[in-house]
Amino acid sequence: MDYKKLAELLFPNITKTPEDYEREYPERNLPEGAVVTRIGPSPTGFVHLGNLFNAIIGERLAHQSGGVIFMRIEDTDTKREVPGAVKILIDAMTQFGVFFDEGATVDGDNGSYGPYRQRQRKDIYQCFAKQLVEKGMAYPCFCTEEELEQMREHQKENKQNFGYYGEYAKCRDLTYEQIEEKISSGIPYVLRYKSEGCSENSVKVYDAIKGDLEIQENYIDLVMLKSDGIPTYHFAHVIDDHLMRTTHVIRGEEWLPSLPMHVQMFDAMGWEHPLYCHTAQLMKMDGTSKRKLSKRKDPELGLEYYDSEGYLVETIWNYMLTILNSNYEEWRMANPDAAYTEFKFSLEKMGSAGVLFDLQKLNNISKEMIASKDAEFIYGELLSWAHKYDEEFAQILEANKDFAKGAINVGRNGAKPRYDLVTWKQSREFLSFYFDELFKREDEFPENVDKDTRNTILTKYIEGFDINDDQETWFGKVRAITEELGFAVRPKDYKKNPEMYKGSVVDVSNVIRVATTGRLNSPDLWEINQLFGDEKVRNRIKKAIEK
Ligand code: GLU
Repeated sequence: MDYKKLAELLFPNITKTPEDYEREYPERNLPEGAVVTRIGPSPTGFVHLGNLFNAIIGERLAHQSGGVIFMRIEDTDTKREVPGAVKILIDAMTQFGVFFDEGATVDGDNGSYGPYRQRQRKDIYQCFAKQLVEKGMAYPCFCTEEELEQMREHQKENKQNFGYYGEYAKCRDLTYEQIEEKISSGIPYVLRYKSEGCSENSVKVYDAIKGDLEIQENYIDLVMLKSDGIPTYHFAHVIDDHLMRTTHVIRGEEWLPSLPMHVQMFDAMGWEHPLYCHTAQLMKMDGTSKRKLSKRKDPELGLEYYDSEGYLVETIWNYMLTILNSNYEEWRMANPDAAYTEFKFSLEKMGSAGVLFDLQKLNNISKEMIASKDAEFIYGELLSWAHKYDEEFAQILEANKDFAKGAINVGRNGAKPRYDLVTWKQSREFLSFYFDELFKREDEFPENVDKDTRNTILTKYIEGFDINDDQETWFGKVRAITEELGFAVRPKDYKKNPEMYKGSVVDVSNVIRVATTGRLNSPDLWEINQLFGDEKVRNRIKKAIEK
């Protein structure tokens, strides 16, 4: 067959040559060892934790080596596309501290290796596809969905490998005339790669995370261009990563099964493939077993979650780096104040098995991170979170600026600082009792103290209350009430002889605590009183005394 003629028949409008593109996108002029990498998200509107996970790896590898990270929008699947998704992606990445040197912008491109949206690169793919047709390495396939379905049924019945190959690759043998006739009668077709591979063969590929891999050679005639002339991911990423001069492909391990196709395509094009880095799946503990994070079950799989819960970007990075590099935690302990950019990130220190994403651990890091910040900073962050997610709280914070900072600081300055604030959403709940607008009694008064006794405790407390008392004097007064009303000053006395007392000092304190804060657990009450001031303390107690 005259393949050149076939190529002209299939791509009459493609006039550029592969050489033109090679010239248009030359080798990058970067320092030795510079990593060029990318993230290639699909614009589905959902920004996945995995997107950030891979972006963080890419960002570190690129920027610590003087290289480049770019964002390429992989929009070949129009069915999954959501309007505005590119903006959502860019905003999310920026917000989580990943900045791209080049790539898609909301309404265009930044960089000289674009366009960075695959659908805008149709001519480029077709040019390289045309070249493969000219070489007799690709051919049009007119098989219908029904025919392909029948093929699958047949393969299933005969327990054969699935796919378009060997005797099943019917369109491989069409003559030029047959092809021409089908095309002129308007029959739709896809373009397939003519694989010379064999299922018995294996090929070796080195993966920077998984190590040496021995994979089955691809023997399937994969679809390169769909019937609308748009490429499949398999073909598109090969062309793109070559022309964009990508050195490292960092992507989820769900792509491992199609790796044989990809290395075969690179070979077919006569190009060296980039270094593949297949990252492990993000897992979580579910009871006692580990499972993959699921979009349906786990809100923490979407990046939006971390924004709405309110985590600092620094916290997310610290946690991500902790699970990404086995030596990060140790480095962090030795360098508590260093910026994470000072850590030398390496692919060798990455685990190749499923990565456990543990919200509990993230929260621990978050607590410590917040505890290390001053009240001014915390106030600012909390306020921006509130403006986005809880305007009522934002107004309260603004109207009580100094008081709010004081509330943030309660319990943080002593020998054993408290770690009360975990996320901004949780902080809003935690801090709510300080503000009269949000205050409510969340816990019941101790059950073993009857209403009259409770009222007596509170009345006596308020009679003796003096805002100028130091902590010891204040507590001395609580102790005096305890004794006077027949409660044990030492909890263990009450435990030993419960019949002798109404309860212990714990109960008396709890009555006062619930009256003041609405809760059985709170930071130090004396400190809270100091922040409240005389009038507010008296008001809270008076309100708690029931008629
Ligand atoms: N578009 C692919 C995805 O969303 C990207 C894979 C890659 O980075 O090559 O999973």
